[in-house]
Amino acid sequence: MAKLKKLEDYRDEIDQCVKCGACRAHCPVFGAEKHEGRVARGKVALAQSLLDGEIALEPKVLEDMSQCLLCGSCYAQCPNKVPTEEIVAAARRRIAEAQGLSTFGKGVAAVVGRPKLMNALAKTSGVFARLLFKKIPENSGLRLRFPAPWIEAGRTLPPITAKPFREQVPEIIPGQPGMPTVAFFTGCGINYMYPAVGEAFLKALKFLGVTVIIPKDQACCGLPAVSAGAASTVEQLAEQNLTALTRHPVDYVVTACASCNAGIGKVYADLGDDYAALAKKTRDIFVFLVELGLAEKLAALPKKAERKRVTYHDPCHLRTRGITQEPRAILKALPQVDYVEMSSAGTCCGLGGTYSVYHYDTSKKIGAKKAGHIADSGATLVATDCPGCIMQLQDSINHAGGKQQAVHILELLAEALPE
Ligand code: SF4
Ligand code: SF4
Repeated sequence: MAKLKKLEDYRDEIDQCVKCGACRAHCPVFGAEKHEGRVARGKVALAQSLLDGEIALEPKVLEDMSQCLLCGSCYAQCPNKVPTEEIVAAARRRIAEAQGLSTFGKGVAAVVGRPKLMNALAKTSGVFARLLFKKIPENSGLRLRFPAPWIEAGRTLPPITAKPFREQVPEIIPGQPGMPTVAFFTGCGINYMYPAVGEAFLKALKFLGVTVIIPKDQACCGLPAVSAGAASTVEQLAEQNLTALTRHPVDYVVTACASCNAGIGKVYADLGDDYAALAKKTRDIFVFLVELGLAEKLAALPKKAERKRVTYHDPCHLRTRGITQEPRAILKALPQVDYVEMSSAGTCCGLGGTYSVYHYDTSKKIGAKKAGHIADSGATLVATDCPGCIMQLQDSINHAGGKQQAVHILELLAEALPE
């Protein structure tokens, strides 16, 4: 039975915080709000006080613990490698255990924990979309006409596909003999909102002759439930995904979503030996494509006359785990792309799972900085490797009045590959 760590299990890591403040400069929430309770050392100190019984679960504690994107930027810069994002997630689980989930947290747990319900909601969403949203020109999404529960008016959201991606494709797509076999973990973003990214994934792996298995019974990776503090939902989803992803013998589990990669590749790794083995064979799509020599194959293609100026945004869930070069290697090798690096490409976009629902104003401030960097780069497209980042980047660009489009690198790769 999968079991997530408790706050008590982080006692040693919490004790490692020497309150040096090196994390302050790297925390996007602190950068936007300039409030000590928002920075990593403040949250670690709160966690310590909770463990020592010095404070109760009063509203201020709940507010401070909710003010974290779980982006891991502080961990990446911390001299003592204090895993603040894990400590905050464990504190949220403790709060939920003591007080129950928030109303929104209950909604997250109910929806992501029930794939059949998610499918049913996706299929009916088109009916309501025309009422709730207006289309934004140039294919940059839908904008909410007026506030809905937990979503503010004016927010740009992608359309939900009437037929989820996994229902559009066969479960097994054979490749060439001698090439690897992979399980494609689609995640919810690709399954329900960005099916074109899933199609691009299949086109890329077909080009290389890789056999792809898309287990129909895979579920959400569980990261939204991690963010909401819904422990039992995360554990149940991990068990379901372990079963789905190990039914067929595969060389790798491949993701095209940074958050799913962190869910299976990092969160699951602590759940037991079977989960650690699954985490070990999980690859980000661009790490996998670079290992198969795709960057060299692309570089050998003739350059296209029509050029696209593209910059790259690092999703936190890849950057903080050292995956920064491979997505850039594929982008730079594309025959239609003029690559330009934006400044602060590695700062968080401001989404942070449930964070942007609870704290949309701060999320928008963080996103506005990113939109400014995209505009300053002169790029017309910002490419990334995470459906959640695409959604947030497009919302931020639209709020800033920009004309750029946020896309997945796979969409540009699919354009470049022969039919
Ligand atoms: S979390 Fe790390 S960087 Fe931040 S104050 Fe503690 S030891 Fe220093
Ligand atoms: S995980 Fe991100 S938002 Fe949370 S304290 Fe660390 S840097 Fe700040």
